Amino acid sequence: MVGSPEQQKAESERQAQAMAAHSRARMTEAERLVGRGALLEQTARGNLEQSFGVKGKEEERRLAKSQLAESLAMQGRYAEAAEVHPDKEQRKYYRDIAVAIEKPDDEKCDCGDRRAKMNDTELSITPRFERARIFSPVHNDVVSLVECSKCGHWNARPLRSRLLKHNDALAMSEGAKKPVLSDPQVLNR
Ligand SMILES: [Zn+2]
Repeated sequence: MVGSPEQQKAESERQAQAMAAHSRARMTEAERLVGRGALLEQTARGNLEQSFGVKGKEEERRLAKSQLAESLAMQGRYAEAAEVHPDKEQRKYYRDIAVAIEKPDDEKCDCGDRRAKMNDTELSITPRFERARIFSPVHNDVVSLVECSKCGHWNARPLRSRLLKHNDALAMSEGAKKPVLSDPQVLNR
């Protein structure tokens, strides 16, 4: 590096700033989701505090609690979310996600593919679909909450190419060179 010590210092500061800006722009899906969750948590906790012990604010308190639960879930804190949420069904949803995250990634139910023909093309249709994208502290990344439409089995894991994302109309199955569709997509046609 050439230049006076001051110039060198200015240059290395400039580089550090450029790198910080670069990494902000390159935030991963996980970082964005967890970051949004942390912000929402602050807001929700503020709202909750304001509604505490105030008569006639039951509805606000309920809303703040579900907001807080949602913000915790966005950060992968499902056990806490399950404690906080006012709705029983939603509490179960968070508990089930916590269980699904702990399952081995290759665990799946025994439900097999369905075969179908579409425009003379033999289709192999997986019963599993991506129900949601969630942050998993076990994987330290955003993973797919995969649901079987036949038996309701859940696993939270990185999506394999064979399994379709919601919006993909067609995809190739692993190795088989056949297009596959998820059941819901076929049924919605
Ligand atoms: Zn199944």
